[in-house]
Amino acid sequence: MTETTNAFDIAQGQFDHVAELLNLDQPVREMLRWPTREFKFQIPVRMSDGGTQVFFGYRVQHNDARGPSKGGIRFHTSETMDTVRALAMWMTWKCAVADIPLGGAKGGVAVDSATLNRDEKERLTRGWIGQMYRNIGPRLDVPAPDVGTSPQMMGWMMDEYSKLAGEYTPGVITGKPVGSGGSKGRTEATGYGVVYTIRETLQHLKLDAGKMSASVQGFGNVAQYAARGFTEQLGGTVVCVSWWDNKERRAISVSSDKGLDIAFLQSITDQYGDIDQEKAQEAGYKLEDADAWLSKDVDVLIPAALEGQLNGETVHKISDKVKILAEGANGPTTQEADAVLNERGIFTIPDFLCNAGGGTTSYFESVQNDMNYYWSKGEVLERLDFKMTEAHRRVLEMSTNEGVPMRDAAYMVAIGAVVEAMEMRGWL
Ligand code: GLU
Repeated sequence: MTETTNAFDIAQGQFDHVAELLNLDQPVREMLRWPTREFKFQIPVRMSDGGTQVFFGYRVQHNDARGPSKGGIRFHTSETMDTVRALAMWMTWKCAVADIPLGGAKGGVAVDSATLNRDEKERLTRGWIGQMYRNIGPRLDVPAPDVGTSPQMMGWMMDEYSKLAGEYTPGVITGKPVGSGGSKGRTEATGYGVVYTIRETLQHLKLDAGKMSASVQGFGNVAQYAARGFTEQLGGTVVCVSWWDNKERRAISVSSDKGLDIAFLQSITDQYGDIDQEKAQEAGYKLEDADAWLSKDVDVLIPAALEGQLNGETVHKISDKVKILAEGANGPTTQEADAVLNERGIFTIPDFLCNAGGGTTSYFESVQNDMNYYWSKGEVLERLDFKMTEAHRRVLEMSTNEGVPMRDAAYMVAIGAVVEAMEMRGWL
């Protein structure tokens, strides 16, 4: 049988596996393996050439037992109802494992952002709100950025919602630009959160952070700050980064055995995470094929791009030297690959724990919006570190006590918290 790479099948498969371990009742399983509400809608956009193009938009609210649902909006060509369902479900577990009082949701538009000019992008972004504004809100469902969306786009969305609501409503969306209701530290938050969980893992495994090397898939927001944090905060070396080259329509890796200068790489990267090949080569770096990042002899692998990248086929390319897999991306590992990782004893920091820093700082942003009082960057990152460290500790404790891998342990912590909220609200 060929393995499934459908993200929702993977999300449901992971859930079913732990539901069995926890011996959950049938109605609870039914409620949690499917989203509570789903929206699919058309967004007609007037293009700059005078014509109209119709896009499909999505929003899925998986569960809101613990509070308003929360999760990003992704603009990507491969967006479907199933990818959004999976990502919404993982948001529920993410907020629960990080112990923030929010549920899970996700949204998207099937589009390649890079093909739109600024005006078209603004109209599409405002159009998404036009369709969804009755069903989102600070006490209902709070979107945020994800792949292909930016703080500027969140700013437009907040403005559109505020106009329709008739009052300034910054708490309807997070990841806004700083100075327009955004939180300091939100840009770095997901990547730095990944680094905090790696730091805690290294401590647990008694490994010296300064001697560690890493290889990263992706060079978008999460990957950039995970790589920076890994070198600047932990003192490790990043030897390889892969990215999606928009002009050539293919993934490429850039590497240096001595280590890449991440701040320099950022300076030659555009807003879509596309690195300038020529400048990278001028700096003495080597360009390699897409999968090179995966087979490097490193201690830590950080997939920070899209779902399903580590599967039954690619997992065998991982070097014997790899000790830790830190999942910066959502759903990067299929169940077949996961079984191989467990067998090989690679310590996995599962996605919804590893990358919970973005959602957590989004929560801080909405708290600041409610108070209309803003924290310093140091304060935000300190609180983030505390939350991530605590979440890591809870999952590690569950893993040790129950004798299960970190992914199952994270699910156990998260599902336990959601079921408890559902019970207290009288849903069960
Ligand atoms: N899109 C991010 C994620 O997958 C952030 C979600 C949020 O901030 O609400 O975690």
